[in-house]
Amino acid sequence: MTSLDTARYDYAAPVSAELFARGQRVTPGGVNSPVRAFRAVGGTPRFMTQGSGPWLTDADGRRYVDLVASWGPMILGHAHPAVVEAVTAAARRGFSFGTPTEGELELAEEIIARMPPVERVRLVNSGTEAVLSAVRLARGATGRPVVVKFAGCYHGHVDALLASAGSGVATLGLPDTPGVTTGAAADTVVLPYNDVAAVERVFAERGPDIALVVSEAAPGNMGVVPPLAGFNAELRRITAAHGALLLLDEVMTGFRVSRSGWYGHDPVDADLFTFGKVMGGGLPAAAFGGRADLMDHLAPTGPVYQAGTLAGNPVAVAAGLTTLRHCTDEVYARCDEVAAVLRGATSAALFAAGVPHRVQQAGSMFSVFFVPAERQVRDYDDARTQDTAAFTAFFHEMLARGVYLPPSAYESWFVNAALDDEAVEKVLDALPAAARAAAAADPADAPPDEAAKDAQELSP
Ligand SMILES: *Cc1c(COP(=O)(O)O)cnc(C)c1O
Repeated sequence: MTSLDTARYDYAAPVSAELFARGQRVTPGGVNSPVRAFRAVGGTPRFMTQGSGPWLTDADGRRYVDLVASWGPMILGHAHPAVVEAVTAAARRGFSFGTPTEGELELAEEIIARMPPVERVRLVNSGTEAVLSAVRLARGATGRPVVVKFAGCYHGHVDALLASAGSGVATLGLPDTPGVTTGAAADTVVLPYNDVAAVERVFAERGPDIALVVSEAAPGNMGVVPPLAGFNAELRRITAAHGALLLLDEVMTGFRVSRSGWYGHDPVDADLFTFGKVMGGGLPAAAFGGRADLMDHLAPTGPVYQAGTLAGNPVAVAAGLTTLRHCTDEVYARCDEVAAVLRGATSAALFAAGVPHRVQQAGSMFSVFFVPAERQVRDYDDARTQDTAAFTAFFHEMLARGVYLPPSAYESWFVNAALDDEAVEKVLDALPAAARAAAAADPADAPPDEAAKDAQELSP
């Protein structure tokens, strides 16, 4: 470690600031996905120019240890040589044919081999598309309208799933997102996460109308709030008893927290699963899958329509397949090891600085909640009690010291297998000062954009 590595960067990022101003003239808020705009933490979003292994370089030429990993996909680190080679070779063969290709089958076979309950998959372009297609399939296959979701779980920007709950227990979905009609949200019921009794109650009232319960397999979109022991199994039991389907959304956790995903920690056989992020290796590829008899309701074998011009795109498939093939036991072991070191060191630094906090994990995914240590965060209402001013101060001090954390207190941190000792050291060196900054933060300093709190549910 040289002292240069741990030097605090000047806060200003003039080139990024200029690009951000330019961006605001051509695209709303200067970004193509809301959380990138830093609304929850303020300041200048960093425009990145390059990624290599565990490092990102921004437009001002500064290097950061990346603990976002493109919100999950980059589990092997950036520009992994084998993935670059596979993508380059695929591109040379042609970008897209609008015909089936063998690579799509190989990717489907790899997913099926890793996920025992999945017999058939269909490839799509984004996690959002995977979920909306799975919801349509569930409604088509059951002939029922209602979808049950949990507050704080994010499933992409699917109209029917952008409903939110009030503070009631079994709340009818309300279209609180302008542009989502009452009709689109009318068949959505939003329940508090980890609350089996609420699920039982809604099935007692509306069981015959419920097509689907959808849940993140282990939620990472309200910060990391893993299911309480047996929660997913209870969802399985209750849905089966009422002839409804269960979708466990593994877009974030799939192929990241184990060879399969959250399923490797908590093997609940849902009817449907959704995947994205890691399975595209950083290019746009996603999938939904499940039992053969259910998936065969899809066109062309069945009547439920679903299609995609670029679905199974050969270049994206090459990135995803090569990434998955390199996701060996050693990769998962390294991710687990690095995550354990970072969790322990973060907690120790915050403890030493006297900052109340709680670190929650789902495999190698984890996040830090600035709440009293004894207060387990079990649902979205709990998550919203955190001191976001402390997070903001912590985030900016880490950024200034060359560590790129998710720019929101409501997001998971993502490790990658390329995080070597030098990168880990750099994070460890930055933590004490960041913890002191969190200790000095004034809780009255609300995030610059109050709406950001609600917008978190709509991230990334
Ligand atoms: C990221 C995410 C999605 C949406 O995926 P996109 O590719 O961003 O559309 C859906 N579900 C979960 C659990 C996610 O984390």
